Amino acid sequence: MRRTVASLACVVSAAVAIRAVAQPAPPTTAVPITRPAALPEFRSGRTIRGECEGRPCIALTFDDGPDDVITPQVLDELDRHHVHATFFIVGRRISGRTPLAARNRAVLLETQRRGHWIGNHTFNHPSMDTLDDAALSREIDMTARAIEVVIGVRTPLFRPPYGAFHNDASVRAVFSRRMTPVLWQLDSRDWAVHRPEQVVANFRAALDASPAGGVVLFHDTHAHTAAALPQIFAEVETRNTARRGRGEAPYEFVGLEELWHPMHPARRRRGAGDAAADAGGDPNAADSSRTDATWRPQDVATDATWRPQDVVTDASTDGGFVGDSSVDAPVDAARTPSAAMVRPAVR
Ligand SMILES: [Zn+2]
Repeated sequence: MRRTVASLACVVSAAVAIRAVAQPAPPTTAVPITRPAALPEFRSGRTIRGECEGRPCIALTFDDGPDDVITPQVLDELDRHHVHATFFIVGRRISGRTPLAARNRAVLLETQRRGHWIGNHTFNHPSMDTLDDAALSREIDMTARAIEVVIGVRTPLFRPPYGAFHNDASVRAVFSRRMTPVLWQLDSRDWAVHRPEQVVANFRAALDASPAGGVVLFHDTHAHTAAALPQIFAEVETRNTARRGRGEAPYEFVGLEELWHPMHPARRRRGAGDAAADAGGDPNAADSSRTDATWRPQDVATDATWRPQDVVTDASTDGGFVGDSSVDAPVDAARTPSAAMVRPAVR
């Protein structure tokens, strides 16, 4: 019996080894890290969704990964253009003892190593507005912990699946953890199409509608998205040539730091009233005459029931992760979110 088990283990490990060889290894392009995985300054930021102030810009974001095949392709293309992006991670894709989860974790580490920023995109990719406080805590904290185990830092960046971020409980869950929610201005709608040229066409249409640019939404789980990126960069360069010809400033690829603004605690104490921001208002407008010098870290969580010691009370997230056999399933493609959920209110 013991011998049978040993033989079986051999066969399994051989099969794993063969599969590992067959899979593309994480790329190892030597690009120096030019910034940390996430800036602590992003803690307690106001919602990021829109444009750079006073100049055209583009901030690339990729959701739902890491994907052991697609994400490395995206990373290589970003390197070719020396552009840093932000990747919002689905916790279950990097959790568990499966070879796939291990490869995804390696890709996440490589993403961080190349200087991109990492954000939290929940564990199971639910619509947060449907969850109670306990479920919100699990979705956010299990993912935060899973990411931290891999890259060594707890990211303060958060993106709600489908952009669904309207209920008081959702808003409170994110801000009470001093995280900065990141929405978007331009949707490539790569989740709704199947060919690279459709992604490019959607990007063109989005940029036509928002000529100042802003945060762009992609998914590093679609082959057609990775394949579209060279044309996306070419499209921006074509427009920049035309803009320079007209004497206009060209688009500049920027990180989220260009769109981040600290949130005043007085604004925060208005409870979960960041609904004003989601309705299109400026969350800091009421405090525009005040400075952030009065901001104190302890101000942020005082109106929430969340306590630091509540984080990661699920023993299953410490050390070993609960396996998830559905981790291969495309996350967004499995659902057809409503337009209202996908498109956040934009300024
Ligand atoms: Zn998503």
